[in-house]
Amino acid sequence: MLRLEPFAFAKPQTTDEALALLARHGAKAKLIAGGTDLLPNLKHGLYEPEVVIALSDLAELRGVAVNGAGELEIGAMTTLEEVERAALVRARAPGLAQAAAAVAGPTQRTMGTLGGNVCLDTRCVWINQSHFWRQSLGFCLKKDGTVCHVVKGGKSCVAAASNDTATLLVALRARLTIRSAAATREVAIADFYKADGAMNLRLAPDELLTRITVPAPAPQGTWSGYAKLRPRASIDFPRLSVGVAWTTQQDGTFADATVVVSAIAATPRVIAGIGELLRGRRPDDLAALLAAGEKARSVVTPLTNIDGDPQWRRAMVPVFVKRSFLAGARGGA
Ligand SMILES: Cc1cc2nc3c(=O)[nH]c(=O)nc-3n(C[C@H](O)[C@H](O)[C@H](O)COP(=O)(O)OP(=O)(O)OC[C@H]3O[C@@H](n4cnc5c(N)ncnc54)[C@H](O)[C@@H]3O)c2cc1C
Ligand code: SF4
Repeated sequence: MLRLEPFAFAKPQTTDEALALLARHGAKAKLIAGGTDLLPNLKHGLYEPEVVIALSDLAELRGVAVNGAGELEIGAMTTLEEVERAALVRARAPGLAQAAAAVAGPTQRTMGTLGGNVCLDTRCVWINQSHFWRQSLGFCLKKDGTVCHVVKGGKSCVAAASNDTATLLVALRARLTIRSAAATREVAIADFYKADGAMNLRLAPDELLTRITVPAPAPQGTWSGYAKLRPRASIDFPRLSVGVAWTTQQDGTFADATVVVSAIAATPRVIAGIGELLRGRRPDDLAALLAAGEKARSVVTPLTNIDGDPQWRRAMVPVFVKRSFLAGARGGA
């Protein structure tokens, strides 16, 4: 049985109180939202915080609304189940409802939050293991060691971004509101992630993600869809994560389109040139969708950082690009 090491526990009642605690403890603190990823990681000894700050009482960080500009605003502490079921999300960003519904299983989605998913740590078959297991291999670059078991001789960690909603939020060009006691900043979600599996978030130790903003649908409507490859549809992390978003012209053909592929490297990857490739083609043109998928396949290189044969995962890219577009066209979660 894996045990938690001792730590102090704080349960602030307001966001300002939480920010003051973060300002005081900085890198010695760890935030807990739903705890569905943090707790296993604590038990595996991946983090060693002196204090854990719970966000669960911050009602002001919960809920889905539409702002004056017609954009979706979702509080970081909104659970994945709430995101999946919210009528506003299903109507305006159905792909996000699909991505939220694809995270883990129902139990984790009841506890797990959108903010926790956006800030999810990267994953690797060599790191998501017990301390004892990792110690027997001499640890690795991400924690306590000096080597990478995925890229022999590698100097940086290539653990994979494995958060389903992040893939789709990048496709939708979502923005994140990040607060510290001293300042509030807004960042495009694509710029929030960096290519370092050891720590892939541009988030300072005293900062908290408070809100996710999804831009308004374009006049003709922004469509979005999500599909993932995983061993068991009931619970598993993605072996491949694909999110798409697109707008249409008056005749129903593509005006623009974005394909994002994740669960490959430390950041979700926007595939260049998809808009040009699909413009003028119909969203139900399977040959066009597969061509977009083929373009994505040609530029991604799955590694042995997560389970599943890398060549097979790569071969599946066109299939899941096509499925994402079809899921978006169908709508619903
Ligand atoms: C069996 C199992 C299967 C899973 N399958 C999947 C899956 O298929 N796809 C997937 O994406 N995830 C999966 N997960 C991981 C997890 O359940 C989800 O990612 C969930 O959304 C995490 O949210 P949380 O609120 O529980 O985050 P927590 O575990 O509380 O936190 C996760 C991380 O985010 C940080 N954090 C949380 N909130 C904030 C905030 N507001 N500001 C700054 N930092 C913050 C925490 O400090 C921590 O580092 C799985 C977990 C389990 C146990
Ligand atoms: S990619 Fe390498 S350094 Fe990163 S967690 Fe895996 S084995 Fe460790």
